[in-house]
Amino acid sequence: MKEQVKKRVSHSSVSLLVFCALLFFTASPVLAYTNINDIRMWTAPDHTRLVFDLSQSTKYEIFRLHNPERIVIDIANSKMQAKLSSLTLPDPVLLSLRHGKQKNGTTRIVLDVKNDVSPRSFLLKKSTKKPHRLVIDLIPKQKKVIKTKDFTHPGKHRDIIIAVDAGHGGEDPGATGKNKLKEKTVTLAVAKQLARLINAEPGMKAVLIRTGDYYVSLKKRVRKVRAINADMMISIHADAIKVRSVKGASVYTLSESGATPDRVAAALAAKENAVDEIGGTMPGQEATDPLVRGILGDMAKRDGLDSSEMLANLMIKELTGTFPIKYSQPKHARFAVLTTLEIPCILVEMDYISNPKREKLLKTTAHQKKLAKAMHSASVNFFTRMGRLSPQKTTAHVHTVHRGESLWSIAKQYGVSVSSLKKLNQFKHSTLKVGQRIRLPQS
Ligand SMILES: [Zn+2]
Repeated sequence: MKEQVKKRVSHSSVSLLVFCALLFFTASPVLAYTNINDIRMWTAPDHTRLVFDLSQSTKYEIFRLHNPERIVIDIANSKMQAKLSSLTLPDPVLLSLRHGKQKNGTTRIVLDVKNDVSPRSFLLKKSTKKPHRLVIDLIPKQKKVIKTKDFTHPGKHRDIIIAVDAGHGGEDPGATGKNKLKEKTVTLAVAKQLARLINAEPGMKAVLIRTGDYYVSLKKRVRKVRAINADMMISIHADAIKVRSVKGASVYTLSESGATPDRVAAALAAKENAVDEIGGTMPGQEATDPLVRGILGDMAKRDGLDSSEMLANLMIKELTGTFPIKYSQPKHARFAVLTTLEIPCILVEMDYISNPKREKLLKTTAHQKKLAKAMHSASVNFFTRMGRLSPQKTTAHVHTVHRGESLWSIAKQYGVSVSSLKKLNQFKHSTLKVGQRIRLPQS
């Protein structure tokens, strides 16, 4: 039933379009122009995106001209209202642009581009937050963005690679605070701080999935996480809600599974054992035997989900005390970006940007650094527990005391003696307070 209705609607809209086109081509002066209301540009490492806001969906043509290299966009029956001079040019691929009006009412936009740039274009329909848009991607001839040679040795002695995924970006601002702070800005700032801390850690390496203000599709994020052969992914976000007083962090994983520590240990062993069996397959190269693929796939999936749960719990633990917490247990939901199931993947909602007080804090570098530090500690703790980092070698020289911990358990965790901790911190007795920060001996 529904389809029939749909068809009828699209049929009538087609007739309407034909009718309008007839009107247009018979030079009717009453037809409204498409206003090109705004223009934005986002520079990604592998493309530059131009976005034109349109007052309505429209017809356009795109073609290229050589000597010098140009890309021409003709938008039928339109009027340029946007300020092209608002763009910061030259860009790595877009050198300059200009526009002119053709006699037939078409607006011609000419982009001067570098050699070997291919255009890709598409229209986006009006949504609740955005008007109709025309998107032009300028794609330079593929320079390998990811130096895969750095990441293709999944042997035992390579660095631990952490994919740090700053949510949103470019055209997609994510949530916006009352005072205009955008989620994409905070996520990138914290991601960069986190990457810096991880890269200062011996044996660890961070790769930012997004390095600037541009959009990366969820599929592409997942593909990149796989391409770099990451051992962990942390996706960073900030939430928004109508009730402005709501605050606090929450951590998400993909599954419904409530893992117990024992299951985690078993899963962990299974994972370590499975690595050799899989034969150190490079990302994207799956086992071809469907049966083998099925079994290993399931195993990898379960292990990934369990370790995600463990990481999520460590993350909550690290955030507790320093930040308000919305949910004290990991939450589970179907996030497309978390589908790299073979590795621990979590999504951290740092706080509510919709709370003006929290927004103000989220904007400060000091607060961003604190958040990054907590995420860094959780990552270090995770890999220390996995036995892949030796506790003494990390640069996390301070430990925040959590509920249930004692000087003895902390000393054991870091492989140091109780007396060395007491001496370093000038403790006269062994009682600790939750939230207390204690210094750890350096290696
Ligand atoms: Zn988000």
